[in-house]
Parts: sequence; structure tokens; C-alpha cells
Amino acid sequence: MRMHPARQTPFSARAGRILLLASALLLLLLLPCAALAAEESASFGQAREQMVRSQLERRGISDQATLQAMRRVPRHNFVTESLAREAYTDRPLPIGYGQTISQPYIVAYMTQVVAPGPGRRILEIGTGSGYQAAVLAATGAEVFSIEIIPELAESAAERLRRLGFKAIRVKAGDGYFGWVEHAPFDAIVVTAAAEFIPPPLLDQLKNGGRMVIPVGTPFFVQTLMLVEKRGTEITTSSLMPVRFVPFRRAE
Ligand code: SAH
Repeated sequence: MRMHPARQTPFSARAGRILLLASALLLLLLLPCAALAAEESASFGQAREQMVRSQLERRGISDQATLQAMRRVPRHNFVTESLAREAYTDRPLPIGYGQTISQPYIVAYMTQVVAPGPGRRILEIGTGSGYQAAVLAATGAEVFSIEIIPELAESAAERLRRLGFKAIRVKAGDGYFGWVEHAPFDAIVVTAAAEFIPPPLLDQLKNGGRMVIPVGTPFFVQTLMLVEKRGTEITTSSLMPVRFVPFRRAE
């Protein structure tokens, strides 16, 4: 039998139409998702601005570099998805392995105390989620961070890479010994409560440098201390009562 060529739709044209229809359907499906994602990130942005005003500025955080960094770092990306909606509330949040990310005010306070900025080298002990490291780096500082739980070190490094924080180096290990290859540091931020100030950290602090560290008995209220080094003279002052997870030692 002879087919009438004019009546038959060529295969390529039919496939083209199907493809067009499928793309249109896909677009219809994806558009609301994109709109939702945009709405969600806008609402996180609003929550973050609200956090900066009510939890930080109102309580006396006034350093502009610190406030800008707190405005920029997406804290909701540093906790599990189920906790993202609570990321901007006034409290610490669990990050797994029995550890916590400090409440926004404490992160901002510790950042303000060490006055980070472009060209400054900062050592952090206790990477955890990577949030404090990100806030320090968002001021333009170069950050070196050590985490004793290898799984946390790895996930924080991956998260920071994904979020584009290039000026942060993370390593797994016992922060008691500091990071001698990159010493001396302009500032050291310790985010776990130690019973005493680890001497290697004092050694690795620059002349004129500042360290902020919670000191006291684990699981009780500790004191956030400011340690300043001027030549051979070390001065310490108490800043405020805090409660941090314990500074652990490698077995
Ligand atoms: N700065 C973190 C919060 C960390 S909680 C953040 O912004 O998310 C304290 C972290 O210190 C925990 O992850 C804990 O595992 C780590 N830690 C405790 N002792 C340590 C040590 N000796 N060296 C390095 N990290 C330590």
C-alpha cells in the first residue's frame, strides 16, 4: 500500500512537539518550586536581619565588621534541615555528636572581642558546624580551624567549600597543640570550655594578640576569658558567664 506522504507527520516533528509539551510541563512544575525557594530564602534573610537587630544591636554589639558578617552568613545552612527554621532564634542548636552551635549573640560577642578583619590570621579551636569560622572569615580574615571529631571536621569543611568560604582551612585533630605551621596568630577563638588555657595556644599568639576562651569546669557555668599577650606579659580578664561543651583531649 502506498502511503500519502502529506498525511503523515514526520517523526522528528512529532517528537519535537512532544518535547515542547514536556518542557512546558516541566517548567510549570519547576516555577512554583523556584518561587518557593526564593520566598524561603527571603524569609531566612528577614529572620537574619531581625536577629541582628533584636539579639545583637539591642544588646550592645556595635562593631560594624561583626554585624555585617552576622548579616551575611546564612546560619540556617549550618544546621540540619529540620532545624533550619530555628536557626535565627536566640539559642544554641544541636549539630550532632553531642555538640552545639552557640547562640548568635555569643558568636557575635566572641567575634567582636577579637576584632577580625582583612589580613588578620585567626585560629579557631572547635570547628563544629563551621559557623563561627564563617563569621570570622566574612570579616575578611584568614581562618584556621581545628576540630577533634573527624566527622564534624569533614562535614564542616565540605559545607564551607559549598558555601564559597575559601579563606578557611579546617583540620581534624586536638586543638590543644594549636596549628604551629601557620602560627603566630593575631587572634585565637576557643569554642569549647577548657579547665586551663593550653600553653601551646599562648605560644602561638602574636605579640599584641588576643585570645577568647571559656574557662571552667565542664558541664557547669564557665567564664569567658579575654587573654592578651604583650611581650612576655600575659593579662587575663573575665568577660561573662557562659556555658560551652567541654574541651576534649585526644586519647
Ligand atoms: N564553633 C562551633 C561550635 C562548636 S561546639 C560552631 O560554630 O559550630 C565545640 C566544638 O569543639 C565541638 O565540635 C567539639 O568537638 C570541639 N572540640 C572539643 N575539644 C576540642 C579539641 N581539643 N580540639 C578541637 N576541637 C575540640
